[in-house]
Amino acid sequence: MEATSMSAVTEVINVAEMVGRTLIDGKVVAEFKCERCDNCERIEILDRAGYQRDVSGTPILWFCGQCRK
Ligand SMILES: [Zn+2]
Repeated sequence: MEATSMSAVTEVINVAEMVGRTLIDGKVVAEFKCERCDNCERIEILDRAGYQRDVSGTPILWFCGQCRK
């Protein structure tokens, strides 16, 4: 049996919720947190390594992968 492999994969980011969702044929298959980069303002999947912390360890800014270098 052959699977119909015309699945439409879409990625949607809900800016109000800061949640990204991967949809296959309109069904949500994955959810991930998003964050806006405080440097370039791009919205990307949240990576905890991107937090810029102050001396007490409190996250104050978040940088995307591009701006972290
Ligand atoms: Zn950035």
